[in-house]
Amino acid sequence: MQEAIDAVRSGRPLLVTAGAGLGVDGGLPDFRGPGGWWGDQRLEERATAAWFDDDPAEAWAFYRGRRALYASTPPHPGYAVLIERAGFVFTSNVDGHFVRAGLDPDRIVEIHGSLERLQCATPCSRSTWPTEDALPFPLCPRCGGPARPNVCVFDDRRWIAVPSVLQGRRYDSWLGDHPDPVVLELGAGTAVPNVRREGERLQGLGATLVRVNPHEAEGPPGTLSVAIGALAFLSAVG
Ligand SMILES: [Zn+2]
Repeated sequence: MQEAIDAVRSGRPLLVTAGAGLGVDGGLPDFRGPGGWWGDQRLEERATAAWFDDDPAEAWAFYRGRRALYASTPPHPGYAVLIERAGFVFTSNVDGHFVRAGLDPDRIVEIHGSLERLQCATPCSRSTWPTEDALPFPLCPRCGGPARPNVCVFDDRRWIAVPSVLQGRRYDSWLGDHPDPVVLELGAGTAVPNVRREGERLQGLGATLVRVNPHEAEGPPGTLSVAIGALAFLSAVG
């Protein structure tokens, strides 16, 4: 624990990699855990890109509720610690919490997109635009069909990845300038392993990996594993 705190405080460039477990401490449901968004198997089967063709009003009722929950759950105090210290953030979270908490939007890559952007459900173009609320659901300004959140759902071939690709270019550039960062991984589980893999990839290239996870803190040799929640760790870092 102390070694992990020292690494984060060392002044070396800090890359924060975050999964759903980061928000759990603030009261948000986990992606797949008990009570999580996809805990209902039937929902997991239906929450596909085609949902917006089959029943856009129902799909939007789900996503509107999800976004409203995020919006009504303020980012917990750990975000302030991260924003002060992070050089860059790599996250699978779609809740927009880092930016809402004050992170410079040019210092984040949202690998699964964000609920704060919309795209055409078809899609008829590669455009994305800021999320707006409309009943029964927002429409694509170009073709008039249903819009959908610009988040990557299961096996999603219609997701417009342009914003994430552009973020990814800034991320690659940051890594190029800071080749040996400390990687602080928070709440990244093994069910959707993209975030864990990224930290391990960078560890293989010389980064120091701090893995904070109350249930799955184990990592490759050299990992500084801390088996507590993200908020508890960040409170200790200060
Ligand atoms: Zn369209």
